[in-house]
Amino acid sequence: MNLENLKGIGKTTIKYLNELGIYNVEDLINYYPFRYEIIENSDITNLNDGDKVVIGGIIENIPTIIHFNRKLNKMSFHLNTGSFIANITIFNRAFLKDKLNIGCQITVIGKYDKKHNSITASDIKFGLIEETLIEPIYHSSFKISSSKISKIIKSALTNLESTKIKDYIPNNFINKYHFINKAKSIKIIHNPKTKTELNEALKRLKYEELFMYMLKISYLKKTKTQADGLNRKVSYDKVEDLIKNLPFELTVDQLKSVKDIYDDLISKNRMNRLLQGDVGSGKTIVSFIALYINYLAGYQGALMAPTEILASQHYTNFLKLFPNLNVVLLTGKLKSKEKRECKKLIESKKADIIIGTHALISEDVKYNNLGLVITDEQHRFGVAQRGNLKNKGITPDILYMSATPIPRTYALTLYGDMDISSIRTMPSGRKPVKTYVKTNKEIKDVLYMMLDQIKAHHQIYVIAPLIEESDKIDLEDVYKLEEKMKRAFGKICNVGIMHGKMTNKEKDEVMNEFKENKIQILISTTVIEVGVDVANATMIVIFDSYRFGLSALHQLRGRVGRNNLESYCILISDKETKRLEVLTKTNDGFKVSEEDFKLRGGGDIFGIRQSGDMNFKLANIKNDYDLLLRAKEDSEAFMKSEEYQSPKYAFIKKEITKATNLD
Ligand code: ADP
Ligand code: MG
Repeated sequence: MNLENLKGIGKTTIKYLNELGIYNVEDLINYYPFRYEIIENSDITNLNDGDKVVIGGIIENIPTIIHFNRKLNKMSFHLNTGSFIANITIFNRAFLKDKLNIGCQITVIGKYDKKHNSITASDIKFGLIEETLIEPIYHSSFKISSSKISKIIKSALTNLESTKIKDYIPNNFINKYHFINKAKSIKIIHNPKTKTELNEALKRLKYEELFMYMLKISYLKKTKTQADGLNRKVSYDKVEDLIKNLPFELTVDQLKSVKDIYDDLISKNRMNRLLQGDVGSGKTIVSFIALYINYLAGYQGALMAPTEILASQHYTNFLKLFPNLNVVLLTGKLKSKEKRECKKLIESKKADIIIGTHALISEDVKYNNLGLVITDEQHRFGVAQRGNLKNKGITPDILYMSATPIPRTYALTLYGDMDISSIRTMPSGRKPVKTYVKTNKEIKDVLYMMLDQIKAHHQIYVIAPLIEESDKIDLEDVYKLEEKMKRAFGKICNVGIMHGKMTNKEKDEVMNEFKENKIQILISTTVIEVGVDVANATMIVIFDSYRFGLSALHQLRGRVGRNNLESYCILISDKETKRLEVLTKTNDGFKVSEEDFKLRGGGDIFGIRQSGDMNFKLANIKNDYDLLLRAKEDSEAFMKSEEYQSPKYAFIKKEITKATNLD
């Protein structure tokens, strides 16, 4: 229905509503309040100017009325509240006058003006009421206020036919939870009378959001792991032989992950798995073993890294382990002739393993019997890039690797469509990174600690401070820091600098110099690459560390402590030191992310841009976790049920397939 059809709203109002993204009546009623103002019976002994009040009392005098015209009038009287006498004014209620007799008990709702000891009332109720008043508050603009929006929505709702509101919760779940119906819930959240009914309505609508979301996830999972997998025939003995000959013993979690992947690869179902584990937990070797299993079955395998440096690091390490395999490195860096040759090797299946950057998907590479694609640090690849491979008509098994451990709650929604293997234990002999929080005043201590590392011929990362507002690097600050560091250490070592304004090529150059120990102190903004392995770096100093989430800091800390040398992380901050202390107490990324989640909730905390889908209108995956678990269970049951296939619920199915079309 069009907004024009609503009574009493004109072109200008419609324009203002449009600016808020409201174009029709459906948008309007789905424009939910973002919070509620709850006005309880006021504590009249403690009123401040401008307070919204609900006050009961007895009428002291006969109300006086001033008429401005036929419609507009103002009525005033005194109300004895029991502790003081307030002047009450109310507009356009002259018709109430006959009922407002002296001695009559009423409750006044309005705004308190301290100076005049008066209340401008918006409503009067007869008798003393105990109930609270709940006012919905909407995101509004300068042009249209929340209360105006509220009025428009209320009038739209009175004329709305309930049947027009689509209900996405299947009947058996409505019965199971005794949910009130959808139309009623929507009416309530726009105009709640009691907290109880509001909570009931909210719960119902939140559940619906979560149910639909989890249903989409179940659907994705089902389609991504369809039984059209490659069904490889590889004996596990061969995998065990390889593992026995590795230069180190795999951790229990690494072994378990290898087994998970092996089982996926030999099964009929397509693999769609996430391998998550802290930085340095040893995901790479697991991915190499996966490539090897895939190779043994006669398929080509590809490993994608987000940067050139990481790609070539993987390439070198892979060749060390499997000198007899045909491995090619395909990055954007190659000259066109080299690239052409590389592509020829791939197409003719002379290459068994392809390692590279996203050139692997962006270039027109023709694979030959591609069976497995592994994406390292997957959150740095966009969904669009991931989708690209599929557009080529290839449906290989997929393994994503992520060094951002996420709490279980979050995994359900973010990675609910994948199976997950987690590496929680670090390789033995690895020492936890010693972490300290220091204030700017203690910078001298920090410099001495740095000096110790330099004297021991180790290397140091220094993360430069960021500007408060823009989150952009203040180059001047970075240069100032460089100067400072040069003054302190310039005589005994080389100081390098790396920042976001540099080209990728320049960054790679600096990074390589650091890797080759030509630079001992690297000052940088946060652009140092995730996953880069400089074993000799034993200290990271992070300025303004309060600016980062705990998970982000933990990621940065993972740049050091990559072998058995004692390593240090120094968090410099004058603020929020208590929060930062969490990092001094644990080196476990899963624990850190749980803490981060507790402190900051969902949102963007893991540096993973959420899909629009995950911005629920009402539900919050942290606060509504129980509801989420039920929605997950129910959606899975529903998807398996006959009802899901029935015409009655075809509209739900349609909604799901429509929403997941992208992938
Ligand atoms: P990440 O999980 O961050 O990708 P890597 O795979 O780069 O971690 O591993 C970090 C380092 O630990 C590498 O040098 C790797 O060779 C080594 N490593 C991996 N697994 C083990 C193990 N089980 N025992 C000892 N060292 C290991
Ligand atoms: Mg890695």
